[in-house]
Amino acid sequence: MNIILVKPRGFCAGVVRAINIVKQVLNMYKLPIYMNHELVHNNYVVNFLKKNGVIISKNINDIPKGSILVISAHGASKNIINDAYKRNLTIFDATCPLVKKVHYQAYYANKNNIDTIIIGNSQHQEVLGTIGQYNNATTYIVESLHDANHIKVKNSNKLCFLTQTTLSIFNTYKIINVLKDRFPNILELGKNNICYATDNRQQAVYKLSRMTDLVIIFGSNISSNANRLLEIARKYSQAYMIDDFSYFKEQWLNNINTIGITSSASTPELLIRQFIKYIKQYSNITVKEITISKEKLSFKSPKVLKI
Ligand code: SF4
Repeated sequence: MNIILVKPRGFCAGVVRAINIVKQVLNMYKLPIYMNHELVHNNYVVNFLKKNGVIISKNINDIPKGSILVISAHGASKNIINDAYKRNLTIFDATCPLVKKVHYQAYYANKNNIDTIIIGNSQHQEVLGTIGQYNNATTYIVESLHDANHIKVKNSNKLCFLTQTTLSIFNTYKIINVLKDRFPNILELGKNNICYATDNRQQAVYKLSRMTDLVIIFGSNISSNANRLLEIARKYSQAYMIDDFSYFKEQWLNNINTIGITSSASTPELLIRQFIKYIKQYSNITVKEITISKEKLSFKSPKVLKI
């Protein structure tokens, strides 16, 4: 049996930066350290941090005054930051710089009273954080093509759109085209905000799923970008998403010659290595890696945390 590992996969620059920030904070301060949300949407990473003294408290007012707070990679609303200051928390911001870029666009729109359609999942932490940058202009959420076709806005002449960073590249372009057709004066503040890592992993899984009989996506079902990878892979191949090898079912191997493997932007590579070791018990396997595109982006940790 053949296994094809596709690149790019796994940690993106924003996740590496967020984990580095937390590691440094854990080294510098007494436990516990608080977070407003899961640092990244991966169960392995979240459980690892919990075991190492991180407490997730979605209500800032439940965090003891004077504690240390790390803002998750998805960013936070202005209200959360203000509440944290009121409780005299020391804040370390692990928001991905690419999400911060969306916040700056939201800030600009809000300041200039430009109403904004946010394309994304209304319950996702990143979208809540982006909406939470507004206190002046009106925001609307569009989650689907149906929403794009039916949304009503107050003033289509002073309107822009922003997108969540981890959406499907294929669906989002369709949604944007509908909005542009319906609202010809809509502004593209950031064209679309889907990040390089989401885009690259989706292009890679698209190609991978067309050359394999089975695709395994390593990721957690709470992860937007992992779920988008699964959706794409399922269009062209048999595909499953699992957190780690313990969820793998032997019957998935029936009539399979080639397995393709990828992972979401918040999944540690360790989980793939464990899987390959595990699957060797079922079959003689050859493992090869293919590169669909190369990634060079990295982000520095904030200076204040440099030891
Ligand atoms: S998936 Fe994209 S936006 Fe999210 S942390 Fe990674 S680089 Fe940043």
